Amino acid sequence: MRFSELNLISPILAAADAAGYTEPSPIQQQAIPPVLAGRDLLGCAQTGTGKTAAFAMPILQLVYSRCRRDSARPVRALVLTPTRELALQIDESFAAYGARLPVRHTVIFGGVGQAPQVEKLRAGVDVLTATPGRLNDLIAQGHVDLSSVEIFVLDEADRMLDMGFVQDVRKVLRHLPKKRQTLLFSATMPREIEQLAASILHEPVRVMV
Ligand code: AMP
Repeated sequence: MRFSELNLISPILAAADAAGYTEPSPIQQQAIPPVLAGRDLLGCAQTGTGKTAAFAMPILQLVYSRCRRDSARPVRALVLTPTRELALQIDESFAAYGARLPVRHTVIFGGVGQAPQVEKLRAGVDVLTATPGRLNDLIAQGHVDLSSVEIFVLDEADRMLDMGFVQDVRKVLRHLPKKRQTLLFSATMPREIEQLAASILHEPVRVMV
């Protein structure tokens, strides 16, 4: 299969080409069409399978094509991931695949000063990648408004659980609109993740790779 068969717009196809990708990986083949169609998704996939592009490419396309003109630029897509390294990698993917699109993205994580992160948020961000602790800190201080989020990704859900972030994740969820598209990725599917998935996903497409 080719990227051009996935209904992606040309700025994203050009980015895939520039990255040297010759064909979509299995998770990309299975996940990109339903995500573009607005479906919720439960993805059982490890890092290294191309899962970041599987959500980043369709998210960029959805955010871009439902272009909003509000000057406030509220956050419209939120990706929660457990570690700073993963958060940085995901934000870099949004930068690479969105290089030819007017979509603004940024990343926030703990362990560093929050002032530069607050500045970026204030300037307006369409796609936000975050670790749960810092995100909740910035929400509590009134620096992040999640009431316009259309797409929410919970990445590495099993690691979130192992690292003790479940309460933090639930806290973030309370700030998200009920009506939204949700994607959950996890390398393993223990019962707690199945339960979490059942509580936050609506008729999800299941993808296993
Ligand atoms: P991920 O699983 O998202 O961490 O991606 C793992 C690696 O695969 C990253 O270095 C990506 O740049 C690369 N990658 C993602 N999609 C493709 C693809 N379709 N073809 C070749 N490499 C890819």
